[in-house]
Amino acid sequence: MSPTFPPISDEEIIEHYVFEMLKKGCRECGENREGHFFYEAGVQDEDEHGMKNGLKWYMAKAYCQPCDIHYDELFEVRGELDESNKNSKET
Ligand SMILES: [Zn+2]
Repeated sequence: MSPTFPPISDEEIIEHYVFEMLKKGCRECGENREGHFFYEAGVQDEDEHGMKNGLKWYMAKAYCQPCDIHYDELFEVRGELDESNKNSKET
């Protein structure tokens, strides 16, 4: 065991959100059983016109078999915009 805590990795963040997502299940019907509810989670770099702008999207693509729907679940956006956007308010 290391005495220091490593920084939270992208994988740990995704794992946390996937856990929460699976507790709720499909956003339409609540299905969350393996073999009925499918998902693929990961991190995507946001890019504008082919240029990465410094933001990372933590998200999952989900598929519910009973509903036969695909949808994107956005967990969180992290990072800092490379170019400062004075029009946007900080949250
Ligand atoms: Zn469903």
